[in-house]
Amino acid sequence: MAGIYIHIPFCRKFCNYCDFYSVTDSELIEEYATALLKEAEIRASYLTDETVTSIYFGGGTPSLMSAEIFGRIIKRLYTLYNISDNPEITVEVNPDDINPGFFSPLVATGVNRVSIGVQSWDETRLKYLGRRHSSAQSADAIKMAHSEGIDNISIDLIYGIPGMKSDDLRKELEITFKLPVRHISAYHLTIEENTRFGNMKRQGRLTEISEEESVAMYSLLISECAKRGYIHYEISNFAQEGFISRHNSAYWRQIPYIGLGASAHSFDRNSRQWNISNVRRYISSISKGHVPFEREELDSITMFNEYVMTALRTMWGIDLVYVEENFNKELSDYLVNISDRFVRYGMISCDKKTLVLTDQGKMISDNIITELLMER
Ligand code: SF4
Repeated sequence: MAGIYIHIPFCRKFCNYCDFYSVTDSELIEEYATALLKEAEIRASYLTDETVTSIYFGGGTPSLMSAEIFGRIIKRLYTLYNISDNPEITVEVNPDDINPGFFSPLVATGVNRVSIGVQSWDETRLKYLGRRHSSAQSADAIKMAHSEGIDNISIDLIYGIPGMKSDDLRKELEITFKLPVRHISAYHLTIEENTRFGNMKRQGRLTEISEEESVAMYSLLISECAKRGYIHYEISNFAQEGFISRHNSAYWRQIPYIGLGASAHSFDRNSRQWNISNVRRYISSISKGHVPFEREELDSITMFNEYVMTALRTMWGIDLVYVEENFNKELSDYLVNISDRFVRYGMISCDKKTLVLTDQGKMISDNIITELLMER
């Protein structure tokens, strides 16, 4: 099993909280698409012997790209890679790019899942976040996707925004549950240094919400999603039965993937590599037949720590048999011993084969994960 990630690093404008790599020169999209096709060809052997079960167009803002370009890329991927019969093909979309008829041509290219950047249903918070759409546009985008043939709809929500209370989050969720949303990715706002919010924080113009409020909101998120039948399969991700994201799960389960495009990351089980974060230099380098990337070979401690970090965030948890078979028995014993106090405090459940965070443990997942990592 393997995945393909395609990065579309173009945005109309930058949101106040976001530090992803993107540029506003959308006139480069056509040239960029040509470079993507060429990179896909040059690196076709990266996933030899693997069957691709998911393709993910992330950004940036993939919905700035035309359906014709999506079609060209997807068609070419089918000729270059070994793609399974029914792959999950996701496109991230921004609500303000959506008009009636946007999704039908996408469906014709094979796209069967969309991830819509709703972020909030509240106009004031949308403005505060620097989003360029209204909540009505988000609702319309969801309804249009559904009526034009996409059943697998995910939305992103942000909570923990300064000034936000648990009741506000409750309202956000109530609106979400009334719509045909199969999957929710809900992230607590983090203030990244190189963003407008980072700047405001340095100037003392932004105060983050308290730890207690954060915990209260996360707790509410978990219980409300559970009441509505959404499976809490990763710290920030909830899905109805049958709608767990294949692509995201691959990242968390150490499945190899190739990342195409500027700043995209790839993983082949032994190494990670990442393309240059510069659209113009990426295009120019690829046009000369050279993929501009850096690479890191992963030693066994790094691989073990990455496994612990990602696996413990999921409902499947750490598989002790996997650790024993892929690392060694000492590391499996080490995990059982070091997690013992968290098991006693009810933060981790252990059935001898797996270590899984309880709801209580999820509240302090970062602290627990740090304690479980191997020091060098
Ligand atoms: S959140 Fe999305 S739309 Fe906003 S700047 Fe980041 S990548 Fe672009």
